[in-house]
Amino acid sequence: MSSATIVIPDDLARSFAGEFLRPPDATYDDVRRVHNGLIDKRPAVIARATSTDDVAVALALARRLGLELSVRGGGHNVAGRAVTDGGVMVDLSTMKRIDVDSQRRTVTAEGGVTWAEMDQATHEHGLVVPGGVVSSTGIGGLTLGGGLGWTQGRFGLSIDNLLAAEVVTADGTVIVASDEDHADLFWALRGGGGNFGVVTRFTYRAHPLTTVLGGLVAYPADEAAQVLATYRDVTASAPDELSVQVGLLHTPDDAHAPIIAVPLCHCGDDEAAAEADIEPLRHAGTVLADDIGRIPYPAMNAATDPLFPRGTLNYWKQAFVDEVSGGLIDVLIDAFATCPSPMSALVIEPLHGAAARVPIDATAFPYRREGYAVLLCGQWQDPADNEANISWVRDTFVALAPLVSDRRYVNYMGDGDSARAAYGPQYDRLVDVKRRYDPDNLFRLNQNVDPTR
Ligand SMILES: Cc1cc2nc3c(=O)[nH]c(=O)nc-3n(C[C@H](O)[C@H](O)[C@H](O)COP(=O)(O)OP(=O)(O)OC[C@H]3O[C@@H](n4cnc5c(N)ncnc54)[C@H](O)[C@@H]3O)c2cc1C
Repeated sequence: MSSATIVIPDDLARSFAGEFLRPPDATYDDVRRVHNGLIDKRPAVIARATSTDDVAVALALARRLGLELSVRGGGHNVAGRAVTDGGVMVDLSTMKRIDVDSQRRTVTAEGGVTWAEMDQATHEHGLVVPGGVVSSTGIGGLTLGGGLGWTQGRFGLSIDNLLAAEVVTADGTVIVASDEDHADLFWALRGGGGNFGVVTRFTYRAHPLTTVLGGLVAYPADEAAQVLATYRDVTASAPDELSVQVGLLHTPDDAHAPIIAVPLCHCGDDEAAAEADIEPLRHAGTVLADDIGRIPYPAMNAATDPLFPRGTLNYWKQAFVDEVSGGLIDVLIDAFATCPSPMSALVIEPLHGAAARVPIDATAFPYRREGYAVLLCGQWQDPADNEANISWVRDTFVALAPLVSDRRYVNYMGDGDSARAAYGPQYDRLVDVKRRYDPDNLFRLNQNVDPTR
């Protein structure tokens, strides 16, 4: 069936308060686009939902027409799982309501909210909900995969702060899952991705936090070995409040100078102790730039947004490691020397503190141990450079293979990775929950838990 021939049945059209977009509708092309410009899929219809009821109607449409379904939150998934080719895309990006209960310190947000919007709403109350490190990301996909962010060491992952989720399941039933109700589903939602239904409302625990000590220090890339060694030493014994990343990249100005950048966030209350904790990271080499200071948390969470512009072509790979070994440092430095794009980055980010101490069976997130995510972010602008950049990421990953684990973070996975690597020891339990809530695998455009295996 060609996308132009889709007819919405009258009863569904009447009960849908949002907007159905099909080509050649004026906004269709803009709405089908996601963060990664490499993704160029054309849904037969985009259902722009305004409410939980609308989401149920959109699911009914996909079921009735026998079309593939995709769910779009913030649209940041690099593998492009938010968009279907020829199916029904449920677009949550018009569902933006955020309710902050400052007395109870809880926040309920709809599935289309981004972390920038969340940060702004909670900051007005002196609160924070733990998210990621780039604020243009959606709360939906990021939370359902786990949520590694700046405050993870102190407050845990995003899922560790999830108190309840309103979910529209495959048959259109609306469920509020929590530790008390549908606990099996609630367990699976926290790390199992979008496999079990559309989460229309997320309720989180929020924490008092207004400012952090944060920003970025940059050194020349030819000092990468000593900077990475300092990074390894500091993070091996860092307090929970200190989260530090390190990235080999080029300056975003016209010079495209190769640098090693150390973005960091200290969310501890003791300001003097925080300054002391980060001191070695500010003197790890010849300082090219240092903008570290006490800043509002929303500014911290948005600090690296400009490095990831919407529409850029992206190809990423990732694996967890237990330590920043000498071999890992050597491979990253060698790979960076042949990087074909000034927009790409080789990044190490920690998994640590409170996030690593949660018992393994408490949520579906499978890798509760101190370590690091090694992230190869291929980013470029010209489609003529696709092959060179994709090959560079793949070749670098091959070179890293002997040094990294087979553990993957579901939110960073691309095509070709196995879902078992993302869910690890939780896979079989996830299959049980999948069979209960989505036996026909309506929700399969994700790192899929296959109900038949
Ligand atoms: C620039 C950039 C920075 C990133 N930084 C971080 C970071 O700091 N920490 C981190 O943990 N991750 C990070 N990620 C990865 C990010 O968590 C994933 O890309 C995540 O999928 C984004 O969520 P989204 O809602 O924007 O994505 P989408 O592409 O909209 O969705 C991703 C997947 O989740 C499903 N989904 C989304 N919302 C819902 C919902 N409400 N109900 C059911 N299913 C849903 C979709 O169907 C899809 O399968 C980053 C990604 C990018 C591109």
